[in-house]
Amino acid sequence: MPIAKTSKRIDINQRRVINGADADVIQLYPMKHAFAWQAYNTGNANHWLPTEISMQKDIEQWKSKNVLSPDERQAFETVLGFFTTADSIAANNVVLAFYKHVTSPECRMYLLRQGYEEAIHTHAYQYIVESLGMDESKIFNMYREVEAIYEKDNLVLSLNEGVFDPHFKTGTLENDQKFLENMIVFSVIMEGIFFYSAFAVMFGFQRQNKLVGSAEQIQYIMRDESQHLNFGINMINAIKTEIPGVWSKDFQEHIIELIRRGVVLEYTFAREVFPKGIFGMNAEAFKQYIEHIADRRLERIGLPRQYESENPFPWMSEAIDLSKEKNFFETRVTEYQVGGALEW
Ligand code: FE
Repeated sequence: MPIAKTSKRIDINQRRVINGADADVIQLYPMKHAFAWQAYNTGNANHWLPTEISMQKDIEQWKSKNVLSPDERQAFETVLGFFTTADSIAANNVVLAFYKHVTSPECRMYLLRQGYEEAIHTHAYQYIVESLGMDESKIFNMYREVEAIYEKDNLVLSLNEGVFDPHFKTGTLENDQKFLENMIVFSVIMEGIFFYSAFAVMFGFQRQNKLVGSAEQIQYIMRDESQHLNFGINMINAIKTEIPGVWSKDFQEHIIELIRRGVVLEYTFAREVFPKGIFGMNAEAFKQYIEHIADRRLERIGLPRQYESENPFPWMSEAIDLSKEKNFFETRVTEYQVGGALEW
C-alpha cells in the first residue's frame, strides 16, 4: 500500500495496537506500547536452544526397563503428544492471524521474536522425541488421535477461523471483537491454560529426578510462554482502552463463557491422560489447579474470578510466578554466548 508523502509527524496518541495509521507499522518510533519493547528485550536476554541441554540421563532412563512405570511412560508420551503440535498452532496464530492486523510496530517486533520462540519450542519437542528414539509419527499425530488433545486444539482452531480468512479486516466493532476474541482464545486459553496440566506433569517428573533433561527443556519453554501470556494480556488490555465499546458487557460474558469451556477441556484432558493420577496429583487436584490459574488469568484481563479454588500444587506457582522467575532460573549452568557465533 503506498504511503502518503508528508512532513507531518506521527502523533503518538494516535498509535493503536489495531486500527492504527498505515505509516505507523513502519516507524518503530515514537513508541507507545512500552510493554512490547520490554518483552522483546526480555525475550532476547532469555534466548536458548534445545541442543544446549544434555539429554544423556533421559536417554538412559527411557531405555532402562526399571526407572519408569508404564503409566509414567504413557503420561510422558501423551503430554508430548499435546506439546508437539501446540506450538505450531501458536506460531501460525502469531504469524498468520496477529501480525497482519497489529498496527503497533513495537508489538510487531515482539511478535517476530515470539514466532521464533514458538519454532524453538517445536524444535525442543522434536529433540526430545528424537533423543529418546520415540515413534515420531505416533507422537506428532496424537492431536488427531487422542480425543482430549483433539478437543483442545479444535476449540482454538475453530474459533480462529474468522480471523484467518484472507478477507478479514479489523475496523468494525464486530470484527474488532472477533479479533479480540481470537487474542483471548489464543493467549489466555491456549497459552495460559492449555499448557498447564502438561507443565505440571513435566515438573512432577523433575521432582522425582526422572527425565530431567526433558523437564529442563520444558522449564525454558514455560519461561518463554509466561512472557507470551504476559504480552498477550497487555495487548488485550491495550485494545480494551483504545477501542471504546469493544469491551461490552455481552462480550465480557461471552469471554467468561469461553474461558469456562477451556477450563473444562483442560481438566478433562488431565483426567483422561492420567486416569489413575500421577506423582500424587489426581484428577480432582488437576481440576482445582486449572480453575485456580483460570481465575488468575480472568483477573488480569479485568474479569471476575469464577472458581475461588485453592492451588493444590503450590510448587507450580514457585515455578511459574513471573516475579520469582529470576530465582527459579538461577540454576541455569550455561550462559548463552551471543558473540560466539561471530568467530568466523
Ligand atoms: Fe507461545
